Order: sequence, then C-alpha cells, then structure tokens
Amino acid sequence: MRSIFLSFSESNLISNKMLSKLLSTQVIRRSFSTFNHVINRRPAMLLTNILVSMRCTQRCRQCNIYEYEGGPVNFTLADFIRCIDILERHGTQFVSLSGGEPMVNPELDNMIRYASGKNFLNLQLLTNLYAKETVVNRIIDTVLETGTSIQVSFDGFGETVDKLRGAKNIADTVIRGIERIDSLNSSLTKPVRTSLNVVISKQNMEQLPEILDFIAHIGWNATVDFYRWTSPNHQEHSDMKITDSDEIRNAVELMLQSKYVSTPAFILKGYDKFAQGNMEKRCPYLECPSLGSKFYIEPNGNINACLGGAIGNIFSQSPNEIFESSAWDSMLEDMNQCTGCWNTCYTPAALAFHPRSINDAISSLNLFSTRR
Ligand code: SF4
Ligand code: SF4
Repeated sequence: MRSIFLSFSESNLISNKMLSKLLSTQVIRRSFSTFNHVINRRPAMLLTNILVSMRCTQRCRQCNIYEYEGGPVNFTLADFIRCIDILERHGTQFVSLSGGEPMVNPELDNMIRYASGKNFLNLQLLTNLYAKETVVNRIIDTVLETGTSIQVSFDGFGETVDKLRGAKNIADTVIRGIERIDSLNSSLTKPVRTSLNVVISKQNMEQLPEILDFIAHIGWNATVDFYRWTSPNHQEHSDMKITDSDEIRNAVELMLQSKYVSTPAFILKGYDKFAQGNMEKRCPYLECPSLGSKFYIEPNGNINACLGGAIGNIFSQSPNEIFESSAWDSMLEDMNQCTGCWNTCYTPAALAFHPRSINDAISSLNLFSTRR
C-alpha cells in the first residue's frame, strides 16, 4: 500500500499498548532527541515510513508506483537494519512499513522482527493483504507474534474494486485475510491494533453504505479518505473525481454516522470546503516542522517528503546534515508555493501541533482518542 495514501490512523490513535511503552527507556531516550530537535527547529522524523518494496501486487488506478525507477525495488535486510538504527538514534517514535506492497519483499518477516525489538511507540504494517495465501498467512503470524499494528486497504467489493485496484478477486482475498487476523487476534491476551483504510472515489461511491456496514461488521477502526489526484504520486482520472458539494456532503454524513470511522470529524467536514477551493492552507512541514514533518524512505536510502523528490539520502548523510542542506531549503520553498492539501496524511498534524484557534485545539483532541 503506497505510503503517500496512508491515513492519519497510522499515528493518531494512542492505544493502551502505546501508553505502556511511554515509560520504556528506549522511548524516553528518543524523547530527549526529539526535545533537542525541537530546540534546534529541525524535523525530529517522529513519524517515518519505510518503503520496504517499490513493487506491488495490485495496480490501482490512482497510483503510479509501477513507474518507479529509482534503483533497487526492495530494501535489503542489511540496509533496513541500518535504516532502523539511524532512525532510532535520531528519535523516530512511529514507524510504518509500507511500499508498494511490503509483502513483495521476501525479508519482510525479519524486518518486522528487527524493528519490533526497538520498542517504537508504534510499529505498523500497511498492506493490501493481497498476495499468495502462504505469504499472507506467514506475515499475519509474524505481525501477531511481534505485536505489530496492521492497517489494510479496503475499497469495496466485486468487479468495482477489481477494476479500481487492477487485480482479480480482491475483496474475497482480502476478507479472507482479515478474518484470519480477527480469529487469531481475538485469542491473544494483548491483541494487536487493526484498522482499515478506505479511499472513496466516483467509482466506488455507490458502495459506501455497504463498505461502512462491513467495517461495522468486523468492528475495526477505519480511516476514510476521498480520492485525490494532486500529489506527484497520484494518477489523475476525471471519472474518479468527486467534486460535487452535494455528493461530498452526503458521503460525509454517512461517514459521520459510523462510530468505526476514525477520520477526525473536522477533516471529514472540511472536504467540501477544500474541494470548492475555500479552505485555508494547513501545512505541518511549514507550521510545525519539528513534530509534524513526515518522511518516506526508499530502498536506495532516498528520503522524500509529501511533494516527492529526494531531500537527501539516509545512507550517505546523517538526518541532521539533510535538514541543514540546500535540498531541504529548496523543498521548503516548494512547500511554501504549494497551494495546500486536505487529507488524513498531513492536515491533522498541522492542527494538532500548531493550533491557530480554540476550535483547532479542541478538534485536535480527537486525534488522540479512540472511539472504541
Ligand atoms: S498499487 Fe495500490 S496497493 Fe499498490 S502501492 Fe499503489 S495504491 Fe498501494
Ligand atoms: S500543504 Fe504542505 S503537506 Fe500538504 S501537500 Fe502542500 S506542502 Fe505538502
């Protein structure tokens, strides 16, 4: 599942497991690093996505991962370990393993095991759960054994989703995996955190009620986003865009009625205003660079931010060198020129870490609560 589509749920729901980790020596030591980065006004890389594979088992219409030509398509285990160690020293607290589809990487098991030993506040696997059954089952076992959170992409049913995601029999395959996770997870004394990520476009809009019923049926939290096409990692398709105010408002109304949709209400309510071009820009990289900046690391070590284009390489530069470089300055200039975005990936961090009003502050409290 491509990291750029990742929802805020990868970092927003502070579970009991995370609270218990807050007192671990590793977390406390990393918190001192964070404090140092805040003082020096440089990104703490609190939330970082490692793109363990740049290949995928699906070919979603919205995604251009298949165009990737940046070098090796999979992280090697040795580079992954190097990368995790660097992030740990820099102070990263939330790590997501994504891609592409992480299960394409044959070392994923070992990667999860290594990263879980670092006691990050949250280690999460982001997956489409679409691979050979033996691979899916093995990774599910590892996730449950290591206490790793898992978020699964789920965009609907039948031919509709097969066309949207460019593969066959997707819903049945994914639901089989979800059921396996549920049955094994329910027998654990400390179940892992599970969630879905749903993207609604014009093509699967009619299935929204059915999708929400499914979410309620399995009882997982789900972040729901509208299809977007403005980032360099998205493909633009006019037959997927939802821009009509009534359509957006009706869909949001349905989402708000579900207690399992964890996308903050203020994000849902803001979609229409943003689609009509009436939403003020809220950018975490510019408003709260130390805590709100989110990064993506490719198998070749390149580090990207939201706009794409490497700002440096984690294997040849230290993070501090990268954030003192002209490449980072130039990225910040591009970010200044950006007209804005409104989604669960970036917007919540701007509101949470840089509230401009009492409303912002109250809304951001939603980010740190769970509905269940
Ligand atoms: S093709 Fe689909 S599942 Fe694969 S990385 Fe892109 S969005 Fe994620
Ligand atoms: S508003 Fe900020 S986070 Fe959003 S796309 Fe622009 S630069 Fe990136």
